[in-house]
Amino acid sequence: MKKVYLDNAATTSLNGEVLNDMLPYLTDVYGNSNSLHSFGRDAMAGVDHARDQIASAIGAKSTEIYFTSGGTEANNWAIRGIAYANRKKGNHIIVSSIEHHSILETCKDLESEGFVVSYLPVDDTGLVSVADLLHEFRPNTILVSIMMVNNEIGTIQHIKAIGDILKDTNTIFHCDAVQAMSSCKVDVNDMYIDALSMSSHKIHGPKGVGALYVKKGTPIKKLIYGGEQEFNRRGGTTNVAGIVGFGKAMELNIKNLDYTNKKIKELSTYFIKKVEYEIPDIKINGNLKQKVSSIVNISFDFVDGESILMLLDLEGIAVSTGSACASGSPEKSHVLKAMGLDAKDVNSAVRFSFGIDNTKEEIDYTVEVLARAVTKLRAISALNKKKKVVKK
Ligand SMILES: *Cc1c(COP(=O)(O)O)cnc(C)c1O
Repeated sequence: MKKVYLDNAATTSLNGEVLNDMLPYLTDVYGNSNSLHSFGRDAMAGVDHARDQIASAIGAKSTEIYFTSGGTEANNWAIRGIAYANRKKGNHIIVSSIEHHSILETCKDLESEGFVVSYLPVDDTGLVSVADLLHEFRPNTILVSIMMVNNEIGTIQHIKAIGDILKDTNTIFHCDAVQAMSSCKVDVNDMYIDALSMSSHKIHGPKGVGALYVKKGTPIKKLIYGGEQEFNRRGGTTNVAGIVGFGKAMELNIKNLDYTNKKIKELSTYFIKKVEYEIPDIKINGNLKQKVSSIVNISFDFVDGESILMLLDLEGIAVSTGSACASGSPEKSHVLKAMGLDAKDVNSAVRFSFGIDNTKEEIDYTVEVLARAVTKLRAISALNKKKKVVKK
């Protein structure tokens, strides 16, 4: 059976060059990077190099990069660590209502500890308005966290404008850039970002590793107590091979960014045109002018997104409804809901997310299978409607 992977927003394939760079650290160079002997030093050299690679990708200093177990930990740490370290200054936090669950769930928990959280609305394209942010801003606002690129609809927020507003205040600005790194040029100084979350497996690196950038001087309490790893701010024996892979993945990601963006834009434009031509009664969700091309979220009238997902899966095509974290649970997309989509458009949404490995032939195959699936499901749903009418 043909296999087509269109779920690159959930995770990406491991790049072969990245694997090659990791292999020695999974075999010969097995020392604990915190050990003082040569085995440890060899491992630490790999970690140091990766820290430089990550730092230079975002315009930071190496000493401002802290490795974590992924984007989720980076987000948990940023929100909770900054909230705790600044509690004396205030207890108010502002986030958008379309953040990743690792931000929103942490905020919910902080509310139970006496913090007050404002969840900014978004417009019907998924954009946060700077005016809304200013409206919610208070003298005791200690932290603002807005994601750069949303993982369900691909909308790119006005991060620099937000950073610009916050730069002369005492409020710390955190940005979840996990989904942005694969397509956006990120410069923490240019965008006035104080803390930034990244993850390796969204940029063709290994899973289970990420990083939090924390600008020098930004108060943040540590979450994971233990050894003195990560400049004494995050305990735990270092994931050397994973970090080495993450560093390499980031270096390649930056090097190939323009080419990747161009190729994925061509693919996704081709896909959208073809779907619009082949399938009537659809809506493309998100902000078409201000989004990454790699994510295309479509609502198909009269059908259930999950049914489409299953029919595509039967023919080897991998897509997603909402985010990977939300599927499998009955909870429907909080992002599409926040954009004000009605229940039927939320239920019928499917996310297609493209990567550098995808081809035009795969798109042709996908649209062919998709058109068949939607036609079939609409026929069934029309039958169901008729049956209901007859019963009445
Ligand atoms: C994937 C993702 C995360 C979580 O990162 P993990 O490394 O998988 O824990 C956080 N935020 C966004 C926007 C994501 O897309």
